[in-house]
Amino acid sequence: MDFNLLAQVLFPNVSETPNDIDRRFPDRVLKAGACVTRIGPSPTGFVHLGNLYNAIIAERLAHQSDGVFYLRIEDTDNKREVEGAVETVINAMAYFGVEFDEGAVVDGDNGSYGPYRQRQRKEIYQVFAKYLVQQGKAYPCFLTAEEIDAIREQQTENKENPGIYGKYAEKSRSLTIEQIKENIAQGKSWVLRYMGVETDEYITVEDAVRGKLEMPRNNMDFVLLKSDGIPTYHFAHVIDDHFMHSTHVIRGEEWLSSLPMHVELFNILGWNQPVYCHTATLMKMEGTSKRKLSKRKDPELALSYYQQEGISQDAVWEFLLTILNSNFEEWRIANPDTDYREFPYSLEKMSISGALVDLDKLRDISKNVICRMSAEQVCEKWLEWCESYNEEFAQLIKKYPERTVSALNVGKGGNKPRKDIETWKQACDFMSFYYDETFEINDEMSAECDDETRKIFFEKYLATYNHEDDSSAWFAKVKELTQELGFAVKPKDFKKNPDMYKGSIVNITNMLRIALTGRANAPDIWEVCHVLGEDIVRKRLEKWL
Ligand code: GLU
Repeated sequence: MDFNLLAQVLFPNVSETPNDIDRRFPDRVLKAGACVTRIGPSPTGFVHLGNLYNAIIAERLAHQSDGVFYLRIEDTDNKREVEGAVETVINAMAYFGVEFDEGAVVDGDNGSYGPYRQRQRKEIYQVFAKYLVQQGKAYPCFLTAEEIDAIREQQTENKENPGIYGKYAEKSRSLTIEQIKENIAQGKSWVLRYMGVETDEYITVEDAVRGKLEMPRNNMDFVLLKSDGIPTYHFAHVIDDHFMHSTHVIRGEEWLSSLPMHVELFNILGWNQPVYCHTATLMKMEGTSKRKLSKRKDPELALSYYQQEGISQDAVWEFLLTILNSNFEEWRIANPDTDYREFPYSLEKMSISGALVDLDKLRDISKNVICRMSAEQVCEKWLEWCESYNEEFAQLIKKYPERTVSALNVGKGGNKPRKDIETWKQACDFMSFYYDETFEINDEMSAECDDETRKIFFEKYLATYNHEDDSSAWFAKVKELTQELGFAVKPKDFKKNPDMYKGSIVNITNMLRIALTGRANAPDIWEVCHVLGEDIVRKRLEKWL
């Protein structure tokens, strides 16, 4: 077979050579040890937690080493493509504070190693497709879907590996140039296959996360170009990561099984492999066993879930860093106030068993993250979220900015600060009592405080209420009144002699708390009163007279 002639028959319009492409994408000028990394999401409209998980690793590696982190859109599968999906990916990453130095942007490209959308790189792939044909390493295959199905059935029956290789490749491999020309003239569709070798050899790859991997060398005639001339993931990955000069490829472990194909291509093209980092699949606990997160069953797999639930970006990062690096939590305890971006992320500390996504843990982290923020920061971020997801609260925050910040300051000082806010969504529930517009009585006062007691209590309380009292003067009055009404000032006195009292001070403060906040569980009453202001306090208590 005259391979040059075959290449010309298959790719008559490709005139560039590998050298031309080489010149177009010169080496990057970076300091020694700088990592060049990327994420390569497919524009399916669904951005999942795994995308962010891998993005964080890639971003950290690049930015910790003064390298480059870029975005490549892997749109070779146009059946899965959804309108506006590129923008969705870009916005989701931006929302979570993932910043790219280069790559696809909404209306084009930013950087000199593009285009950064694979479909726009068709000509580049074809240059190498043609080159591989010239080298006798790739050939056209005209097998129909029916023929391939029949082969698969036969392989299943014979308990053989599925795929086109060895004797199953013979039919296509043995076509003459005339037959090929004839098929093309008849408009038969074809794919370009790699010419695999039959071998028992093993390859070794040093995976930065998993260590040394030994795998059988590729023996498959896998597809390089699909019938529309667009490459498969395998071919595009090798060409793009080579010419975009990725030093590390961070991707999910679902790609491990195709690694031998990639190694084969890097070798045949004479290029150095990047460092591979195959990350663990995201899992969750179901009962006592772990299972993969599923798109259908687990809303938390979608990145939009965290946005909608109002989980702060920082919390999501810290949560993922906790899963990613076994020493992050220790570091956080030792450095409670340091920005998480200063955590020295390392590939060696990554776990290879499934990464467990535990939403209770996330909420816990989120509480701590929010607790570390100043009231002003909390207010700003909460408002930002409300502007997209809760118009009513966005209005309230803007109407009462000072009250909101003071409310967010309640319980902040001291060495055991309150951790009332977990998410921006839950903040709307928690904060609702600070605004008359959303204030509601949700809990019931205890039976000890019957109608009669309540009335007397609130009457007397209001009569001596002085908004200027400091917290201890205020509490002294509460105690006095407690006694006057026949309740024990010390709960333990009541426990000892329950017959001597109507109840204890706990019942009294609970009644006051419910009247002021609508709930039995709320921050310090005196502090709350000073956020609400005298008018609101009196109004809420007068209702009980
Ligand atoms: N497009 C691939 C995916 O969405 C990216 C894999 C890679 O990063 O190489 O899984």
